[in-house]
Amino acid sequence: MLGGGQLGGFFAEAALRMGYKVAVWDPSESAPAKRFATHKFNTPFSDANTLNEFVSTVDAVSLEWENIPVELVEAIQSHKPTRPSSKSLGLAQNRIKEKQFLRDNGFPLSEYKEINRPSDLVKVDQELPWIVKTATMGYDGHGQWRINTEHERDQMSSQISGEGPWVAEKVVPFEMELSVVVVQGTDGTCITYPATENTHENGILRMSMCPARIDPSTELSAQNLAKEVIKSIGDPGVFCVELFLVNPDKILVNEIAPRPHNSGHHTIDSFSISQYEHQVRALCGLSISQPLRISSTVLLNVLGDEATTLSRAETTDLILKTGRARIYMYGKESVRPGRKMGHIIFSGDNIDVLEKEASEALAVLSDR
Ligand code: AMP
Repeated sequence: MLGGGQLGGFFAEAALRMGYKVAVWDPSESAPAKRFATHKFNTPFSDANTLNEFVSTVDAVSLEWENIPVELVEAIQSHKPTRPSSKSLGLAQNRIKEKQFLRDNGFPLSEYKEINRPSDLVKVDQELPWIVKTATMGYDGHGQWRINTEHERDQMSSQISGEGPWVAEKVVPFEMELSVVVVQGTDGTCITYPATENTHENGILRMSMCPARIDPSTELSAQNLAKEVIKSIGDPGVFCVELFLVNPDKILVNEIAPRPHNSGHHTIDSFSISQYEHQVRALCGLSISQPLRISSTVLLNVLGDEATTLSRAETTDLILKTGRARIYMYGKESVRPGRKMGHIIFSGDNIDVLEKEASEALAVLSDR
């Protein structure tokens, strides 16, 4: 596994359960996935010796972070099966390439303009408001700036940081944000999980509801759109397609993750096959099957200091009391504002009841 975050950790758990051993390469010695790793590589991704050692240790390679250097994946895939490959990684790593790919393949997306220098913002001929995003290395709302007015746009050129290029995307007046996990097997079989309904705070996923509260035809359109996007890439692996539901007749693609997704954590609890088991299956060339739903779920992300509050015995106990909550903590050593420290899955049969419970838990954790 390239990358040692929580997604890699859940993959490693699934792989261990199925009888595999997992090697994790991540420069951080205390990366969450290393809790489940048989072999741990702690050097930077540019280390040539580790590349040789890693390749000779493993039989197949997957990834859990879209900022793994593409050159590294290209070097590995010439020796060992690597799923997904550098093709989908390269698309996901660069918003401009990703958007061009989507547009060229006829998929609907928000209007945007490319920008090479912050000073070019004033020349953009596109209706406001916008969200300006870095084309590369952005995640969880980092590297994003909202611009509502011409005045803000004029001020913003001096505030935009990091390396260009950027995209200035029109703000989409969505009814709901959805995401769909798609699995593509080595034999071309392609299945989708039902859409989740997502809410964000400051660009970070806060809650995720499955099933989404949408009508069956919208559900079908969302799943079909996501499936077509992944089929058009044609790479085996687990993917997530993030969508904006503008209205039942208009669903736009926001972005593609070439890996399992935060909004798919619930599949461990609520489906017969989790997105992580499917990542193992896709990697090992095993069959990809339509998973059966076991329950409805609401996921609540535990962000930053909320983890400290949750770690107090009385808070843990309060959250667990209803019998519908399962706590997953990632074992991260340092707490930073907005950092994903863990999540709680509320399982049951009534999504509204579960959402209420998750909101009450959030109020306790964040002292709102
Ligand atoms: P992203 O990193 O592109 O997934 O953006 C993070 C979050 O910011 C999204 O999930 C939305 O909540 C919000 N966002 C991003 N782009 C747009 C847009 N064009 N219109 C409205 N909201 C957006």
